[in-house]
Amino acid sequence: MRKRDLGMVAAIVTGLALAWLAGAQSQAPRAAAAQSGVHGEELGFTDTPMLPGLPYHVHDPGRPHPPVVTPPAEPGGPPSDAIVLFNGRDLSQWKFERRQMGAGGRAMSAEALAKMRKSQANLPPLGWKLEDGYVEVVPRAGDMLTKEKFGDVQLHVEFEMPPDVQGHSQNRGNSGVLLQSRYEIQVLDGYHNPTYADGMIGAIYGQWPPLANAARQPGQWQTYDIVFEAPKFQGETLVKPAYFTVFLNGILLHNHKESMGPMIYRQVAHYVPQPAEDSLMLQNHNQPVRYRNIWIRRLKGYDQPEK
Ligand code: MG
Repeated sequence: MRKRDLGMVAAIVTGLALAWLAGAQSQAPRAAAAQSGVHGEELGFTDTPMLPGLPYHVHDPGRPHPPVVTPPAEPGGPPSDAIVLFNGRDLSQWKFERRQMGAGGRAMSAEALAKMRKSQANLPPLGWKLEDGYVEVVPRAGDMLTKEKFGDVQLHVEFEMPPDVQGHSQNRGNSGVLLQSRYEIQVLDGYHNPTYADGMIGAIYGQWPPLANAARQPGQWQTYDIVFEAPKFQGETLVKPAYFTVFLNGILLHNHKESMGPMIYRQVAHYVPQPAEDSLMLQNHNQPVRYRNIWIRRLKGYDQPEK
């Protein structure tokens, strides 16, 4: 081979090598994309079957993405989209009321109302005791209600039984978390404190005992994580009941359990038409239960686009 031919071969080989390298480089993102499950330009597929009853294909690239919610720095803390109701320092999100209504939003009888008004002469002023990092029930000083009203929510509440144990059954550490001021998850000392099962700690009061007794000892902080679906009415007609999913200290107590209606004592609960949203209420049962770290998230449905 002549010197000039050798040069030409070298140039061709070099050119082919460069072309191959360029090709390999252009293939690199495609290979990485394939590995991450992404094909071509789209982040999904439009040649796949439609999901039943939905306007989306399987792996639809056009399906809305949910909003980003930043988790808390510490477990149990409020995530980025939570409404912090009580951070241990101020009660500005709350009001105190002596409920003029009986349990379950039913109007009190004239007799009961007159009796209550008569007894109010000796009542302490409204409001609970704000201490460093927690708030404590002051007997007969009203219930604690959020100023803001809520429908479907995820709720985190921490509470502590009085360390000096007094009373028994329903008179030991009784309070309550009442969604929409109506639907009660019982707060009670559940540690070696026998009582009726549908009124023990974690019960949907008067209806369903919890699936487990996951109580800690008095003097230890405990956590409720509650998902509540509010009932839906069309006019006077109930079209969807309320549902509870509840964890106590991380242990499941209720798994999407239907509520029979607002909390009521010694009667069968039944629904009464109500507003779509109402205050969260912490019950004053005249025992010094403590609360801290309360936050709430409004629940949204699937496929609502990111803002
Ligand atoms: Mg109670």
